Amino acid sequence: MEIKCPNCNSISTEKIVPNQGTSYVVTQIDQNQNPPSFLASTGIPVDLTMCRTCGNVQIFKAGLVK
Ligand SMILES: [Zn+2]
Repeated sequence: MEIKCPNCNSISTEKIVPNQGTSYVVTQIDQNQNPPSFLASTGIPVDLTMCRTCGNVQIFKAGLVK
């Protein structure tokens, strides 16, 4: 899947590969605590790509980026 950067239109993008056995998620934090605490059970699994030209990071549904 060719991924175009929406910031600079480059097609030179790559998946950011997490460490072995881990994955990226977008999660919520509890703002009523100081410091805010992560709510691990609210996480949405995602794939991330980074643009080699401008460094922009994009978020995709987990599994979409090979
Ligand atoms: Zn870019």
